[in-house]
Amino acid sequence: MTDTVLDLFKLTGRRAIVTGGSGGIGLAIAKALGEAGALVALVSRTRTRLEAAATEVPNSVAVPADVMTIDPGQLVDECEAALGGPIDIVVHAAGFQHREPSVDFPVEQWDRLIRVHLTAPFLISQELGRRQLAAGRPASHIFIGSLNNWQSVVPNIPAYAAAKSGIGGAMRALSKEWSGKGIRCNGIAPGWVHTELTETLFSDWSRAKSIIARIPMGRLAEPSELGSVALFLASDASSYITGQMLVVDGGWTTS
Ligand code: NAD
Repeated sequence: MTDTVLDLFKLTGRRAIVTGGSGGIGLAIAKALGEAGALVALVSRTRTRLEAAATEVPNSVAVPADVMTIDPGQLVDECEAALGGPIDIVVHAAGFQHREPSVDFPVEQWDRLIRVHLTAPFLISQELGRRQLAAGRPASHIFIGSLNNWQSVVPNIPAYAAAKSGIGGAMRALSKEWSGKGIRCNGIAPGWVHTELTETLFSDWSRAKSIIARIPMGRLAEPSELGSVALFLASDASSYITGQMLVVDGGWTTS
C-alpha cells in the first residue's frame, strides 16, 4: 500500500536522544517524538526529575548525565545500550541562562554557557556523526537556537547570545559536510516560551506584558508547538530540508 503523507511523520523503530528532556521545550519535543513512535533517551542531570518526565513520554528511558562534563562517547554508548541499538535522531535542548551586565559577567558563567549551548551539542553530534557515517546510517540532528542567533533581544545575556549565534554556524557546517551522506542537520529558533529558563523574565508581569505586546500573534509559544516542529525536522516529512534554522516565534522577527 502506498504511504500517505502522514506516514512520513512516523518515527516507528527510530531511536532518539533528547538532551534537556526533563522539562520545558526538551520534554515537549521528547513527547512528540515518542508519540510518533520513536524510542527516546531523555538526558538531563537529575535522575528523579528525569524519571518523572519519562512517565510522560511514550517509549522513553531516563539517561541521567550532565552534558557539560560527560564524555560524548560514554553518553552515546549509554543511550544506545538503553535503547537497544544505534541512534537516528538527536535533539540538543539542554540549556540554562545566566543574566548579568556584560561589565560584570563572570568568566565561569561564560564558560558554562558556551559549554552547554555550543560545545556539548557539537561534541555529541560529532560522536554520533562518526558512528552514523561509518555505518552509512541516515540521521537527523536538531539544534535549538534562539532569536539571539540574529538579534540582541534582551540585555545582560552576552554568553547566551554568543553561544546561540555560534550554534547556527556549527549546524550549517555539519549540514555542509554530512547532508550528502544522509545526515540532515537543522535548528529551531523558538521565540518566547514560559519555562524555567525564562522564569525570571515572565515572573515580572509588566516586563512579560511588554514582550507579549511585541509578538504579532499576541501570545507566548506553548512548548508543544516546538515539539511538532521538531517532529517535522526529525522525520522524513522534511527529507529535503537541511542547514536551516526554522524560526518559531509568532511573527516576532518579521514584524
Ligand atoms: P528549561 O530550563 O525548561 O529546560 C532546560 C533543560 O535542560 C532542563 O531539563 C535542564 O535540566 C536541562 N539542562 C540544563 N543544563 C544541563 C546540563 N548541563 N546537562 C544536561 N541537561 C541540562 O529551558 P527551556 O526553555 O526548555 O530551554 C530549552 C532550550 O530552548 C535551550 O537551549 C534554550 O536556550 C532554548 N530556548 C528557549 C527559549 C524560551 O523562551 N524558553 C527561547 C529560545 C530558545
